[in-house]
Amino acid sequence: MPIYEYQAINPDKGCSRCRKVFEIIQGIEERPLGRCPACGTEVKKLISRCLGVIMETPEAIKQNERKIRDYEQAGMWSHAAEMADTCAEKTKDTGLKVRAIEDYRKAGHDVDGLTGE
Ligand SMILES: [Zn+2]
Repeated sequence: MPIYEYQAINPDKGCSRCRKVFEIIQGIEERPLGRCPACGTEVKKLISRCLGVIMETPEAIKQNERKIRDYEQAGMWSHAAEMADTCAEKTKDTGLKVRAIEDYRKAGHDVDGLTGE
């Protein structure tokens, strides 16, 4: 599932959440967020940082796995999950898929719908 990053259009008006960049996991069909869910300030969508870096060469896969581990060690679970999920799709690696689901769970997301094949 794609992760989107948002930030208040006018950070001076925002709350502690949207003054800085915050992440939301949304389905492709979901409408983009117009306002901060915490305070209602208008927010803009930022370009996701970690999409578009997935490649399928063995070196790239190794690099991606290192990146996932880095994210996990930094506690950036949603980023780790996103990387692992995308890599798992590309490489058909079921171990990585399980790891993605685990990372989504650690990020605090409801993953019950993701576990069924
Ligand atoms: Zn806010």
